[in-house]
Amino acid sequence: AITDDNAKDELVTREMATLSAAVEGNSLDEIRTQLARTVDVVSQVVRDRQARYEAQLQLMGERVHGLRADLVALREQVSQDALTRLHNRGAFDDVLAKQIDFSFLSGEPMALMMFDLDHFKQINDTYGHPGGDVVLQTIADTLIKLFPRRSDFIARYGGEEFALILVDADSDNLAALGERALAAIRALDIDYLDQSITVTCSIGIASGTLHDSAETLLRRADQALYQAKQNGRDRLVIAE
Ligand code: GH3
Ligand code: MG
Ligand code: MG
Repeated sequence: AITDDNAKDELVTREMATLSAAVEGNSLDEIRTQLARTVDVVSQVVRDRQARYEAQLQLMGERVHGLRADLVALREQVSQDALTRLHNRGAFDDVLAKQIDFSFLSGEPMALMMFDLDHFKQINDTYGHPGGDVVLQTIADTLIKLFPRRSDFIARYGGEEFALILVDADSDNLAALGERALAAIRALDIDYLDQSITVTCSIGIASGTLHDSAETLLRRADQALYQAKQNGRDRLVIAE
């Protein structure tokens, strides 16, 4: 393209020089003829270039589109937990911070539920790590079924800990939603190598207030979770 541009530039320069000479020669006929030629040459060059630029623009547009699709796919990949396919901790931190800002501005109520499996170490000790992994996957699937709304955001927060961001949940409903999750998890009969694994979990819940940051909300949910463990596990505590 550059060689072509250079050749065309030379052509235009040559035509301009001829036109210039014609002007100096003072022959009106010659000037008129040469002017017509120069205009032809220049407009052809401009048209060629325009067509090429348009083709290049189109190509670049397609490349950018492809890149954006790659980026979206990559973002999903890096924000997903490989074992459970839930959102990972990084995605959770991003979404929690944004949701807190949004709730502050819009007044939309939000709450955080932290789930921690009870005595999970024992499950690993009894069934092996792969058995524990199957339990984690089953818990992830169960939480997705329990909280199917588009606005429900479920993440694997850590090893055997899950976090749920709920929006628009009435604080009166939180206990009922949590109890339903406890019951569903308690009722699981997880089939692993012809053995049946059962598991329970403890839940800490904190409702967002206007004064909350991600840090304070997490801390309150975590303290509630700790209290649920202290109170005997397989239960929930709602933070003050
Ligand atoms: P508690 O009821 O007090 O929560 O007891 P716990 O045994 O669940 O808690 P603890 O924090 O002592 O143990 C958590 C265990 O979770 C230990 C760790 O090996 C296991 N774990 C963490 N990540 C994974 C994982 O990806 N797969 C499996 N199979 N186990 C995991
Ligand atoms: Mg834990
Ligand atoms: Mg645990």
